[in-house]
Amino acid sequence: MSSVVLDKVTKVYPGDYLAVDRLSLRAEDGEFLVLLGPSGCGKSTLLRMIAGLEEITEGELWLDGQMANHLAPRDRDVAMVFQNGALYPHRTVRGNIAFPLEIAKSDPAMVRERVTELSKALHIDETLDRRPGTLSGGQRQRVAMGRAIVRQPRLFLMDEPLSNLDAGMRTELRMEISALVRSLGVTTIYVTHDQVEALTLADRIAILNRGVLQDVGTPAQIYNDPATAFVAAFLNSQQLNLLAAGVRTPQNQYVMLDFGPHRLTMPWSDPRAYAISQHTGGQVLVGLRPDGLAPVPESYEGPAFFGRVRALEYHGHEWLAYLECGMPAVPVPEPPDPRSRGGRANGDKNGTGKLSGLVRRLFPRQEQEWQDQEQVGANPNSGIHRRSDLIVRLGGRPIWRAGDAAKVGVDLSRIMIFTPDGARIDPPRR
Ligand code: ADP
Repeated sequence: MSSVVLDKVTKVYPGDYLAVDRLSLRAEDGEFLVLLGPSGCGKSTLLRMIAGLEEITEGELWLDGQMANHLAPRDRDVAMVFQNGALYPHRTVRGNIAFPLEIAKSDPAMVRERVTELSKALHIDETLDRRPGTLSGGQRQRVAMGRAIVRQPRLFLMDEPLSNLDAGMRTELRMEISALVRSLGVTTIYVTHDQVEALTLADRIAILNRGVLQDVGTPAQIYNDPATAFVAAFLNSQQLNLLAAGVRTPQNQYVMLDFGPHRLTMPWSDPRAYAISQHTGGQVLVGLRPDGLAPVPESYEGPAFFGRVRALEYHGHEWLAYLECGMPAVPVPEPPDPRSRGGRANGDKNGTGKLSGLVRRLFPRQEQEWQDQEQVGANPNSGIHRRSDLIVRLGGRPIWRAGDAAKVGVDLSRIMIFTPDGARIDPPRR
């Protein structure tokens, strides 16, 4: 078992390419930490720096309290499994799993016992005498995992180990990985771009974008209480509803979020009310997950939106409704791109600023907001989609039909409020 500490770690590849930017993160002893983020955000680079396969440009890596920047890979006691766990084709499954112990000249009886035990845990005990060429993709990944973990490393690093498997096999192996590494108590850092894998496997998830750590917390913290709009949108199996709203505090009675044709009021007793009221007269972004919205009867008097059902979508276990509510949706603000600070500028240089400007243009004067939205929304290049749909989760039965008038109750405790740049207005709890 081992702890891993990354202290302001930076990686610049040749050609001045900033892959990881001053990233600080800690994996505790025995923790299962998942690195999640879009392709190219620096997850593998980070993992390879921990393994010693990639040099750290700046910052410090500590393994179990030992400064490890310049420790040779073999001295780190780290095992790694890649997407294509390459196996020795001429060795049997048994020979592949046993290999690390054999080269360490371990006692043959111990090797046999350990391989048998692991192969049972990985459900490949019946393939022990076969060669890799005769195995399925899922079985080969199990062997690769067995070979990595057989010598009980202090740290287990996995780089998208399930991404080449079909969906059924992924789910099955996911549960087994979780059970296995937890039973062994080995600290594990697991890279994926798949949010379901992250949510189901992790003790904690660290979300990266463009080489920068965006948020870190338990799956429930990241899902329900994300640090930024980017994190909220990334960790969402359905599209996040992200809406622009003006903030008002009429006669100081309550806080009002003004969406143009719709308004939500928040009592002062709400713990977020004070933080939101600091933006009175300004604009915020409101994030709503489809499962924080629910159909309500016409007579419902609680917080609600109304609209017309444009389309229904069947997802097997649930239906989603797309509602025209006359509210402009805004694109998810991209966090600032450190790669455009200097050196090679390879990012959206004006993403954040552009959005703030757009939201400002959306609300030039509170009294005229809807008219103004209409004008801005009419411009196809504005990045704001006029009258975009509100996505509502209906559950197992499609109680509406396309064309129906519909009312949607809003669970106020589930709304997330961000600045126009995408930062949380009420700080997340960690
Ligand atoms: P991820 O694992 O999140 O998909 P990577 O860590 O593989 O991302 O890569 C991060 C960024 O660094 C990418 O833009 C990638 O193209 C770049 N990169 C990765 N390896 C190298 C390299 N050896 N030389 C130059 N750039 C690299």
